[in-house]
Formats: sequence, C-alpha cells, structure tokens
Amino acid sequence: MRPEGVEAVERAVSGAGPRGVLPRGLGRAYGDAAQNAGGAVLDMTALRGFHDVDVHHGRVTVDAGVSLDELIAVLLPLGWFPRVVPGTRYVTVGGAIASDIHGKNHHGEGTFCEHVESFELLTPAGERMLVAPGDDAFRATAGGMGLTGVVLRATLRLMRVETSWVREDVDRARDLDDVMARMAAGDAGYRYSVAWIDCLARGASLGRSVLMRGDHATLDELPPGRRERPLAPPPQPRLSAPPWAPNGLLRRSTVRAFNELYFRHAPASARDRLVALQPFFFPLDAVRGWNRMYGSRGFLQYQLVVPFGAEDALRDAVERLAGSGAASFLAVLKRFGGGRGLLSFPVEGWTLALDVPASGSGLVGLLDGLDEVVAGAGGRVYLSKDSRLRPDVVGAMYPELPAWNEIRGRLDPDGRFNSDLSRRLGLTAPVRGRGGHDQPRIAGLRGPTPR
Ligand SMILES: Cc1cc2nc3c(=O)[nH]c(=O)nc-3n(C[C@H](O)[C@H](O)[C@H](O)COP(=O)(O)OP(=O)(O)OC[C@H]3O[C@@H](n4cnc5c(N)ncnc54)[C@H](O)[C@@H]3O)c2cc1C
Repeated sequence: MRPEGVEAVERAVSGAGPRGVLPRGLGRAYGDAAQNAGGAVLDMTALRGFHDVDVHHGRVTVDAGVSLDELIAVLLPLGWFPRVVPGTRYVTVGGAIASDIHGKNHHGEGTFCEHVESFELLTPAGERMLVAPGDDAFRATAGGMGLTGVVLRATLRLMRVETSWVREDVDRARDLDDVMARMAAGDAGYRYSVAWIDCLARGASLGRSVLMRGDHATLDELPPGRRERPLAPPPQPRLSAPPWAPNGLLRRSTVRAFNELYFRHAPASARDRLVALQPFFFPLDAVRGWNRMYGSRGFLQYQLVVPFGAEDALRDAVERLAGSGAASFLAVLKRFGGGRGLLSFPVEGWTLALDVPASGSGLVGLLDGLDEVVAGAGGRVYLSKDSRLRPDVVGAMYPELPAWNEIRGRLDPDGRFNSDLSRRLGLTAPVRGRGGHDQPRIAGLRGPTPR
C-alpha cells in the first residue's frame, strides 16, 4: 500500500491482518528487512513534506518518506548538509532511522540517529507519540528495523557547509596492517574516512587498499572558476546499467583485473584533491541499476564489524575471502566510533562491507564461517544488509536483543509489526516471563539515557 497521509497509515496499521504490517522506504536494504510476505507493506514515500527548515540553526522537520536526495537538493543550496549520509542518497529518513545508518564519518560523528532531535512514531497500538533521545521507544526504534512502529516525521540536526565539494587526501596502503595502522593513526584528523580494499589480493598483498579521507571544502579552497555556484546539489544519474548483463561478467578474473587497475590507478599519495559530492559519497548512484551488473542471480552484500582488539578476526575474515576467491570489486573498510541504539549495528571497531556474486559455489559455507568468526570476536553482521544469517548466531551478535524485544513488546502488544527478516531471525520471539500485554502504557515509557 502507498498511503497518501497519516490517517491512511493509521488505517493500514489498525487493519493489519494475521501476517502483520511493515513500513518501507526506498527499498535500499539489501535483504528482507523491508519485506513482509503475505502481509501488508506500507510504502512511505508519499509522505514527503518539509514542515520546518531552520536555516539559522540548521534544523529541519520532514516527513519520514523524504529521501536524503530530496533533503540534499533543498538544503545544500542553503548551506546545510545531513550530518550522516550512507553510500547512496536514495534512502528515506524513516529508513535511515530504522537502520540507524552510518556514514564515512562514524568514527567522529556516530550514526544518523545521534543527530535526530525527535521523531513522531505511530505505535503498532495506534498511538501517535513524540519520541526523543533517552526514551525507550527511541532506543528501540533507532536501528529497530521498522518493527516498533511507523516513523511519521523527524527533526534532524544538520551540518553547515560552504560548498558542494570535498577536499580529499588519497593514500595507497600495501596491505591490511598498513591500512589499519594509517587509519588508526590518522582518522581523527579527518571528518570522513574510508578504504577501498582489494579482497582478492593474497599473500604479502593481502588487504592492499586505497585510503580516501577528507572533509567538506571551504569556499576559499575552491579555485576561482568554481566559486560562482559553490553549493550546487549533485546531478541526477544519467547512465543506466544495461537491462541484462552476462552472468559470468563478474567472474574472478574480471574482478581481479578491475582491482589491479583500480589499485594501480590510485595515486600512491595525493593531498587536497577537490572531489564533487557525488563521487565522494555516492559513487554507485552515478549508474542507475548498477546492481544488474551481477547478472540474473544477483549478489549478496555482507557487512561485518569486529571490535578494536579483534584485528586478528578481521585478518582471518579477509584471508578467508581472498582464499575463497569470492570476487568482490566493492569492498570497503571503515572505523566505527561508539554510541548506538539497542539494535544498531555499529560497535567501536572495524567494519568491512562487500558485495559478492550470488552464484559462487561454496558461498554459503564461506559466509556461515565468517559469521562464526565475527560472533566469536564479539562482532556482528549488519541486519540491513543481511538476507541469509542464521537465527542461532543473532543472539550472540546482538546481546541487547532481549532488552530491545521487551520494549518492542510493550509498543506492539498484539505483535502487529512483522517482516521477513524478523521471522527468519526470530527477532520478535516472545521474551520469556515478560508478556507485552501486562506492561505499562507506552506514554509512560522513558528509559535511561542511551550510551
Ligand atoms: C548502494 C548502497 C549503499 C549503502 N550504503 C550504506 C552505508 O554506507 N551505511 C549504511 O548504514 N547503510 C548503507 N546502505 C543501506 C541503507 O542505508 C539502509 O538499508 C536504509 O535503511 C535504506 O533506507 P530505505 O529508505 O531504502 O529503507 P528500506 O530499505 O525500504 O527499509 C529499511 C528498514 O527501514 C524500515 N523503515 C522504512 N521506513 C520506515 C518508517 N517510516 N518507519 C519505520 N521504519 C521504517 C523498514 O521496515 C526496514 O526495516 C546502503 C544501501 C545501498 C543500496
């Protein structure tokens, strides 16, 4: 369903059938987080109003169906930018809250929800509540995968920028230890940091990377020719991937050649390069339908995080990937800082994200093995990118699942909100001895201050 207003959302929630209901944004979650087979799915993209823009203090109140693309198009010319953006601008504010998304600045600025001042939640029980950081409903909804209610609108704090350019430093790192050492030593000096990592290189070159770090360029840093329209929003994509691609296009030899070229093409070291917003933040958005490049079987995205101190587990994961030859030309390494909601993905540590073609033989065993390495190291896999995790490892990866589920149970005593992800992983399975019906009313819910 595509409700046109809040009343229609309310009707859809109260009329949910036995398979329940789930809000959905722009469907950029890679797996089944925004799907609810046999039940209702509420496409929230018709709710896209801007209610208040405070250009003096950098604050905006928008409907949850507004995309980051729309936010940037409106706010950038006014000198403001979202404080956290993911690798695509085609996500909604509701989806960004429900996944508590991170960007290349997580080591300094945390997740999206750390810059959410408040949001309005339509609870599964039909109550509209204003939720602020510190409330239980906030901690459960930030990263709560749409299972605690529908975010209707949100107030976000913004970042002041002078231009739509990024000043970037690039460094080539010869292996995994080198890139980790450079990031650990230097990331604090940069707002944004990300390393592209060659997951096919083995031996002495295991984990060789191209490290890209930068910050928003100031007006003074632009050459005179670029100062006329310094705050132009990024253009919309013009290129389209072909409607089909040969299934063997991304086989190991092609990806190996691509990775070699990418690594060699990057400067060994470059300083103060000016890069437009689009290629720096959203390189994949330049090609519409890029995912088709993987052929008819598609691909899997896998994102893990392991805490600092568990570098051996990261090394083990990269070794297993390189050894398996699971061809990935899109693999990135980032460092996470602290702070999060109960089910938010980031923990302080190293995160590695990669795409692998779904056709590879042995992929299931490889990824199951990685799950165990990650869980054993106190890390986790990102639910917004997942489509194949086993339910038995989720508890170890997300130790706050029972606390989250208790709050969720209070918000959704009748179990109306469901998704394919929640069923597959048993996320909303009842917490023993804590029946939702017996809990206090939601309006009274106020929890401890989030960490
Ligand atoms: C190319 C690409 C790059 C990406 N890069 C990153 C990255 O760097 N960092 C990162 O963190 N993520 C990244 N992602 C993942 C993406 O940011 C998240 O999956 C995000 O949640 C997608 O938002 P969406 O609007 O498309 O939501 P959907 O995919 O439609 O839904 C995602 C979840 O949000 C819930 N939801 C949606 N709207 C609402 C609402 N109004 N109220 C309550 N719940 C709601 C859904 O139920 C679902 O559980 C990337 C994805 C792609 C395709």
